[in-house]
Amino acid sequence: MTQASDYINAVAATVKQRDPNQPEFQEAVGNFLKTITPVFEKHPEYIKANLLARLTEPERALQFQVPWQDDSGKMQVNRGFRVQFNSAIGPYKGGLRFHPSVNLSIIKFLGFEQTFKNSLTGLPIGGGKGGSDFNPKGKSDAEIMRFCQSFMLELSKYIGPDMDVPAGDMGVGGREIGYLYGMYKRLKGSQNGILTGKGLTYGGSLARTEATGYGLLYYTSAMLKENGKELAGKKIVVSGAGNVAIYAIQKAQELGATVITASDSNGYVVDPNGIDVPKLQQIKEVQRGRMKDYAAIVPTAEYHEGSVWDADLQYDIALPCATQNEIDGKRAAGIIKAGAFAVAEGANMPSNPEAIAAYQDAGVLYGPAKAANAGGVAVSALEMGQNSRRNSDSFATVDGELKDIMETLFANSVAAADEYGVSGDYLAGANIAGFSKVAEAMMAQGW
Ligand code: GLU
Repeated sequence: MTQASDYINAVAATVKQRDPNQPEFQEAVGNFLKTITPVFEKHPEYIKANLLARLTEPERALQFQVPWQDDSGKMQVNRGFRVQFNSAIGPYKGGLRFHPSVNLSIIKFLGFEQTFKNSLTGLPIGGGKGGSDFNPKGKSDAEIMRFCQSFMLELSKYIGPDMDVPAGDMGVGGREIGYLYGMYKRLKGSQNGILTGKGLTYGGSLARTEATGYGLLYYTSAMLKENGKELAGKKIVVSGAGNVAIYAIQKAQELGATVITASDSNGYVVDPNGIDVPKLQQIKEVQRGRMKDYAAIVPTAEYHEGSVWDADLQYDIALPCATQNEIDGKRAAGIIKAGAFAVAEGANMPSNPEAIAAYQDAGVLYGPAKAANAGGVAVSALEMGQNSRRNSDSFATVDGELKDIMETLFANSVAAADEYGVSGDYLAGANIAGFSKVAEAMMAQGW
């Protein structure tokens, strides 16, 4: 046992003892701590500064009540959260998730991951996350609006363009950002740097909608290239059918791959000809429908109930773009059996620790979420830049910057893994590269 590993074990024990009832947060911290020992061996001063105790505890965690009136006239009450995790390198930045599963553990895991993800983008943004256990499914537009207004009435007290800049995540897209922004503006005046993912008519950035999915494919291309492979001609399985999945599918097919699946929480479709993106967009973005509805309008697609990761399919690459812990050890074994040689994560923490171990044991190329899905928040930071400059960039400019950011981020992860003797481990590389910048900033700013 070295001093560094003793220190890391002690931090892990404290986190476990403090929040035993936060499994997702424990998992995210555990995945990180497993890879970070070499940095503390090289930098004993980080142990003295107790950086990990500061990094595993949010700087601030807010929980508030969100009362709203439903269409029947009844008062409903949900929980709202904003966790401001770490501000060492810039204002807190990260999305809002509206989903019935949301609780403090989930928001803290997302905020923790966001800190290192944001650092990896190379842009000056700290880590934060928020949301509510509000379920947008089946709600009317008017209910969504009233909920967003009530949520912002409280959240507005704790955020600001140089302090904390929320955006979307699951259940929060362009419509919700519009309602949230409208309320913020009534309360505090016009400051379009307060949210990202805004509509193009009031300060949004071109390519922000596409950014997470496109970024995932730029990252995947870079990972394949590093290993002497390419996307063209490959068969891909994607899970999810939300914002990340849609634009991942679109970019993958533009780059010459065929994406044979998309899924929601009820089931998945298999289309050997490749998912029809305009039809998927029509169902998901316009009609807000389900994958079952997609199968009804695409004759070559077959709909099945259950998880796409339990399907008996053959493919080359898996891109999980649905949600946390969608892949466990057994499903990872299925992915390997299906012939996949690469997994890159569009969702946050979609693979549990057993799944990650299975990929690594089988020599599957593994692109971890905090690196592979950083494109969304990267373009959010570019949106903040455009808002500060009070102008907007072309699609080609933003998309080009996104591609550069993803390629640089991958190269930095490779370099960090090489430097610390864990070549080819892109999870360790991402953790080390993301952490190193945050650590240097924390040290520079004093105790
Ligand atoms: N929710 C996205 C993420 O997980 C984007 C956050 C943002 O744009 O601030 O990174």
